Amino acid sequence: MTYFQRHQQRQEQRQQLKMSEREALTIEERVASRSDLDTLSCAICLSLVAAPIKQCASGHLGCGGCLDQIARSANPICPQCRIPISNGRLSRSLVADHMLSSLKVHCVNHFKYSHQRKKWEKNARGCQEIVTVATSDNHKLTCQYVLVKCQHKGCNEESLNDEMANHIVQCEYRSNIPCPFDDICKFTGTTTQLAQHILNSIYEHVKVNKEIEDIKIRSLEQELSKSGSRIKSLEKELKECKESIKIHCENQFKYSKDSKKWEKDARGCQEIVTVATSDNHKLICKYNLVKCQHKGCDVELLKDDMANHLAQCKYQPKEEKISCPFGTDICKYTGTKTEIDQHILNSISHHINVNNQRIDDQIKSLQQEFKDCMKSIKESNKNTKEEIQNSISMHIEANNQITDTNVEDLRLELMELIKESNKHAVIQFEWVIPNYLLKCPPPKARQG
Ligand SMILES: [Zn+2]
Ligand SMILES: [Zn+2]
Ligand SMILES: [Zn+2]
Ligand SMILES: [Zn+2]
Ligand SMILES: [Zn+2]
Ligand SMILES: [Zn+2]
Ligand SMILES: [Zn+2]
Ligand SMILES: [Zn+2]
Repeated sequence: MTYFQRHQQRQEQRQQLKMSEREALTIEERVASRSDLDTLSCAICLSLVAAPIKQCASGHLGCGGCLDQIARSANPICPQCRIPISNGRLSRSLVADHMLSSLKVHCVNHFKYSHQRKKWEKNARGCQEIVTVATSDNHKLTCQYVLVKCQHKGCNEESLNDEMANHIVQCEYRSNIPCPFDDICKFTGTTTQLAQHILNSIYEHVKVNKEIEDIKIRSLEQELSKSGSRIKSLEKELKECKESIKIHCENQFKYSKDSKKWEKDARGCQEIVTVATSDNHKLICKYNLVKCQHKGCDVELLKDDMANHLAQCKYQPKEEKISCPFGTDICKYTGTKTEIDQHILNSISHHINVNNQRIDDQIKSLQQEFKDCMKSIKESNKNTKEEIQNSISMHIEANNQITDTNVEDLRLELMELIKESNKHAVIQFEWVIPNYLLKCPPPKARQG
């Protein structure tokens, strides 16, 4: 037995003790009108008289029990008039008995015992019926406000039948509260036992719980992957099924602008294909409609019918005129592309002849130009030759004059120098002569 279980047991024992200690609800406490108590109170115990009611010879009332006790005592006299009451001098008062039994009282279920304040208290939600002492027991049998005791050991709760259901669920003395992990643990107990149980086994419970959840998750994952592959195979089947559906070639239909829907065309393709082969068939179908190539025209027709349409199509573009490719200096002809093509076929040799003639003319004119040029070069050469010869003779003349005087000067200068230093004069001579001679053609011309 755990500490908590022992503690629980001691508490329950204490509660039971308190319950048995509680005083019973008296008729006096239940009296509906306090004034009724005055006529029916016992002079000995000062409480409401208890049956059987007895009286002294003068008619003073008291509880049978209280008066009998005095009658047996050492001083057996009536406490009110002091008349002796021993040895059978007391008599029953049937009137008082009757008064007592018809005393108006609240139903016992008008009260509820407060364990906190340790007394009976009026209960506003209890029975409001006023009964007599005599009818009270009968009423109690059928009273709708009988308080029900909580069935849980140790619990003092008393409440109306319909309130008890609520209490039982949340009663702290409930001994069969299931462990919150009830899918993996069978433990039940009171609140305290449960709290201890949870403290003792939380790790174990969480561990087991996690394992179970892991298993659940794994099995769900398996199921998921199974259903995944099942879905895939169903999708495949569905796709195959769809693809094998036999359909007419699209080109069996023609859109009718009048009825705004596709209609079967008796002249269209009569081929039956499947959804899967439809696209491939379409690529080679002989009944594909062809759009008119003319800008602005939205006529679509079978290939065979298009030739007819093209010849008379309203959107046929007006053909642009172009000029003959031989150029305007050979041929001035212009026309449509077709006309030009025809023109070239018709007159190609003529065009070539004209062209050749033009080239010949050009060559001749170039040859003439060349001749002229050569002629002027020859003349110019002749003139130049004469000019050069003149210039040369002029130069030679001038040169001769210059050298004659200068050679004489030099000879004198040289003689001067030789006088000063033979060796030095030779070097000076060699250097002065070539420098001087470069100014004119070589003096060789003097000999010629
Ligand atoms: Zn009494
Ligand atoms: Zn008396
Ligand atoms: Zn009642
Ligand atoms: Zn309870
Ligand atoms: Zn548990
Ligand atoms: Zn077709
Ligand atoms: Zn057209
Ligand atoms: Zn031409």
